[in-house]
Amino acid sequence: MQIGILGGTFDPVHFGHLLMAEQALEQAQLDQVWLMPSARPPHKLDAVISSFDRRVEMLEFAIAGLEKQFRVSTVEAEMTGPSYTYATLEKLCTMHPEHSWHLIIGQDSLNEFPTWREPAKILTMAQLLVVARPGQETISPEELVTKIGLPPESQRSIQWIQMPLVEFSSTDLRNRARLGKSLRFQTPHAVAVYIREKKLYLK
Ligand code: ATP
Repeated sequence: MQIGILGGTFDPVHFGHLLMAEQALEQAQLDQVWLMPSARPPHKLDAVISSFDRRVEMLEFAIAGLEKQFRVSTVEAEMTGPSYTYATLEKLCTMHPEHSWHLIIGQDSLNEFPTWREPAKILTMAQLLVVARPGQETISPEELVTKIGLPPESQRSIQWIQMPLVEFSSTDLRNRARLGKSLRFQTPHAVAVYIREKKLYLK
């Protein structure tokens, strides 16, 4: 199967994430997208974030009934150390040699991609699906492969995914929850209810 991987903190998941997964599924003709919460996000190690289990539970509520095309993968929790994408992909390739992998990233992350651990190795294991952010300048695939020391033909491993501008962020949802504001229509109903009932993000 062609599997898209969408990693993130998902604290909490919102419709920006889910639409991104859906657009990648459709435009890259994937069979499934696996939402992969990061256990120990390398860039957010000191930040206070909800427990892994809570983030997984919210993701499961978000995709309830859609399991044919969406899955929550907890593979990063089974690994030690910070969640580096190349290590996760290595593990996935070993666990499921029958699948082909497509890494879904936001356009904002593309500029940082050359600074990730082992970017060249990542591109040999997965196709990069870059979700365009309207109005945002970005490094071209050509510049990117040169920067990480790959031959020009590696550009073939990069595909753009179009998506309308959706201005939600988890930070914004956490702030709204803390202020007692509604999360309605920003995240699936069951997630909004879960956040309210568990009193998440109140401080
Ligand atoms: P935070 O506000 O806590 O930094 P976030 O909303 O950016 O979180 P993450 O879980 O860190 O969410 O994001 C995972 C991925 O989803 C990243 O690649 C990010 O670029 C992308 N993403 C998040 N929100 C949106 C959005 N509204 N539109 C498009 N992409 C998004």
